[in-house]
Amino acid sequence: MSSKKVILVTGGSGLVGHGIKAAMEREGQRSDEEWHFVSSKDADLKNRASTEALFAKIKPTHVIHLAALVGGLFRNLKYNLDIFRINSRINDNVLSTAHKHNVEKVVSCLSTCIFPDKTTYPIDETMVHDGPPHDSSFGYSYSKRMIDVQNKGYHIQHGCTFTSVIASNVFGPYDNFNCENGHVLPGLIRRAFDSKADGTPFVIWGTGSPRRQFIYSLDLGRLFLWIMREYKEVEPIILAADEESEISIKEAADLVIEAVGFKGEVIQDTSKPDGPLKKTTSNAKLRKYLPHFVFTPIKEAIKDTCDWYGANPDIVRK
Ligand code: NDP
Repeated sequence: MSSKKVILVTGGSGLVGHGIKAAMEREGQRSDEEWHFVSSKDADLKNRASTEALFAKIKPTHVIHLAALVGGLFRNLKYNLDIFRINSRINDNVLSTAHKHNVEKVVSCLSTCIFPDKTTYPIDETMVHDGPPHDSSFGYSYSKRMIDVQNKGYHIQHGCTFTSVIASNVFGPYDNFNCENGHVLPGLIRRAFDSKADGTPFVIWGTGSPRRQFIYSLDLGRLFLWIMREYKEVEPIILAADEESEISIKEAADLVIEAVGFKGEVIQDTSKPDGPLKKTTSNAKLRKYLPHFVFTPIKEAIKDTCDWYGANPDIVRK
């Protein structure tokens, strides 16, 4: 029997999927691994039959489950119910079909925004279910938390190794640069490019004071490869850069302005909401496993992302 791993990446066409692909291409494809990056065009994972057909076709031994309706603060505020219902359905279809097809390991992707709103810092993996999440994204957060519940259940009831990672704010090429639906950093990049082209002021939404622990999609991709190959626990693990690397949105905006070469007026629109003021998470568990992992410096990663945005007008999502 072949010992080749057949790895199915759901949500493979998105920001994180492309980060994993880039990490894999950088280190060179291994002969004992066969990768399949799929999108909603290959299967609508909201639909049970479509999910079954995908698994029957690919016959994965391993699954990295990224597919989800993902959005920033503004999309979450507007569509909490839809996001809860759709993501819960996708997650249930993927996990139960993986179980049915005897998949050896599933790694799903949770997010640091699912942690309790009222909490102590730094946040760690033991605190996922400690209290209600921030109200702005309760639908997204509760559907993500239920993946952890399912992973535990599949392990206890069926002995499955279904696990999850908790990623902090990701950015990089192939992000969603739509200001209403996307996350803060791609929104800043989009507006900086538009302001430079139009000669209009660059607007920072909100006060600029909330702090975020950004992670470059390529770094997250490198960590996903390690998790998929080496991580044995069912319990989640936080994949975030070190706490000291947390920066304010204003600081992130300054790095974007520099990378884009925008020289005009910068203003703040404080009528826009801020979201949680911070979500500082501890990556101590990750550091115990990988003490020497080197994250790309944020300035370099933002510059790379801006260069990618500028060079790819035809495929940028916005
Ligand atoms: P993207 O929005 O960039 O990509 C979403 C992916 O999901 C796309 O490949 C999309 O396919 C696929 N998808 C959406 N709906 C369906 C569906 N019904 N059936 C099949 N596929 C579907 O998201 P990200 O790459 O940013 O996020 C990936 C994962 O990482 C998500 O689970 C997210 O919650 C998590 N995460 C993201 C963070 C971030 O900052 N971006 C932070 C922490 C966690 P298509 O291209 O065809 O639409």
